Amino acid sequence: MAYQTLYRRYRSQRFTDLRGQDHVVPALRSAVRDDRVGHAYLFSGPRGTGKTSTARILAKSLNCDSLDQGDPCGICESCRSIETGTSFDLHELDAASNNGVDAIRDLISRAGIGSPGRTKVYILDEVHMLSAGASNALLKTLEDPPAHVVFVLATTDPHKVLPTIRSRTQHLEFGLIPADVLAEHVRWVIADAELDVSEDGIAYSLRQGGGSARDTLSALEQVVSAGGVPAEGGSVEAILEALCESDGGAAITAVAEATSVGREPRPLAEDLLAGLRDVFLAAVGGPLEHLPDEARNQVADRAHRMGRATIARSMELIGEAIAEMRHVGDARIPLEVALVRLTSPELDSTVEALLERVNRLERQIESGAVPSGSPAGVAAAAPGPAPVAEAPAAPGPPPMPPRRGREAAPAPAPAPTADSPDRAPTAPAPAAAPSGSSGELPGVGELTTAWQSTVLGSLSNRARARYGAGRFVASDSAAEFALPNPIHRDRCEDLRDEVEGALEQHFGRPVPLRLVVDGSPVAPAPDRQPDPPRPAGPPPAATSDAPVAPEPPPEPVRESRPPDPEPPDDDLDHIGDVSELDDADVTAPSTMERITELFPGAEVVDDPS
Ligand SMILES: [Zn+2]
Repeated sequence: MAYQTLYRRYRSQRFTDLRGQDHVVPALRSAVRDDRVGHAYLFSGPRGTGKTSTARILAKSLNCDSLDQGDPCGICESCRSIETGTSFDLHELDAASNNGVDAIRDLISRAGIGSPGRTKVYILDEVHMLSAGASNALLKTLEDPPAHVVFVLATTDPHKVLPTIRSRTQHLEFGLIPADVLAEHVRWVIADAELDVSEDGIAYSLRQGGGSARDTLSALEQVVSAGGVPAEGGSVEAILEALCESDGGAAITAVAEATSVGREPRPLAEDLLAGLRDVFLAAVGGPLEHLPDEARNQVADRAHRMGRATIARSMELIGEAIAEMRHVGDARIPLEVALVRLTSPELDSTVEALLERVNRLERQIESGAVPSGSPAGVAAAAPGPAPVAEAPAAPGPPPMPPRRGREAAPAPAPAPTADSPDRAPTAPAPAAAPSGSSGELPGVGELTTAWQSTVLGSLSNRARARYGAGRFVASDSAAEFALPNPIHRDRCEDLRDEVEGALEQHFGRPVPLRLVVDGSPVAPAPDRQPDPPRPAGPPPAATSDAPVAPEPPPEPVRESRPPDPEPPDDDLDHIGDVSELDDADVTAPSTMERITELFPGAEVVDDPS
């Protein structure tokens, strides 16, 4: 037997098998049972939610020899021939590929001819793709349908179906399938097909499927054939992550990767918008039943990192980009422009962009890290205990609604004081030795001051975005840096080398970092082994009075402070690694051609060629 995809193999064959369409299926079933079936239906809803499967089950039940409460038996000759695609009672037309008037005329001419069964069923998939002529030909038939014929029109976009056609059908709307219903189905398929899939694989499939049974099973198939969860590069996930990090280079690279494997920019942007909507729902405490638990935690984390203003602005700009795609030759451009505007608000002088910058600053202040030279000016450049205690009390954005986090990660503590009282024994800042004079680590106060005045501002954009939400909370064998939640902490772990390098440059000696989750015990994160080469210190429980393990031979004292750090090269930094970008399509119109196309009547004053 030829190989069948999981979706085909596990396609529902009876009304009772259909999942997650509880308002549609009972209505159809009782219509069949009570012999009240209409002559034309419009099934609308997202792809992969069971529209065509339901239409086929309807066709079966209208011709079945031994109906069971409106459900087809599945074993009579008629049911079997419909299942194998050999029935003369069921005709399917994909309007996306046969959208001309001839295909419809041909279909209609055969509609009047009798067939072996009681009812002849026509399924017209993607009916919104029919040409105007074909739609009108179909309309004529719907106005005066042959008695033994039932039409089922299926579409993902009911608003594009002619209103006159819509009004002659019974419109049934299919919704996305709740994640718990799909999860149950996936587990059943895995058991029935005797597949070996990890929990990660199931979660990945549900996430990729986003409420569509077909997409979920396709993703499951991918997991099975790849022997594990495939890398999610170039996906909507990667773009969302880049938006959270304000990393324009990563966002553009993800778009390039996605389009290089054949994804169309428009559906990509639409999926991105759907992903942003989930983040928005998480931010306002809206319903997220279509997402599995793990994905819910992830969108909650993203909602926290982006903030409501950024999420709203992202949805707005991506929505505008989708609308603009109709009018440009290369649909990638509006998406890329929107992503660059979103990740570089400093290039944008609209009120929304300025609001977003304020929003970012507020969140940085709230978490106790403000880069040097920022207009908020809470960072004192002078060494010693930094007078930062009052600033963070300023009203920030309203606190996020309670979320279902993986663990109850507390929001960033509102007051990043130099030293918490319960950690008093850690090195008092004023007594700290001058930088570079010994192997002893700087105290929390000194670290905080240096961090706010110099170090944070000297980091790459990416590191600054990730570390901006954290604060120093202790200094013993290592400088302990607290981040709002475990996901954020893990992400910062990737860039630890860069930050340690910046600290070493500032203090003139190695300053090992220990990343912890804010509010968790002082002990190092249990699930993270410190990298072997890092200087060993006494156990974290030791007080700072205990001699710190000697560092490698004290290095000659370097300039304790590097020459004035150059202002970060924001504009170039945002472009990311150019080597990761794809070459432009040489057959595409040149930039100048695109611009002149976008601005009809414009004159090229200085042609660079
Ligand atoms: Zn039957």
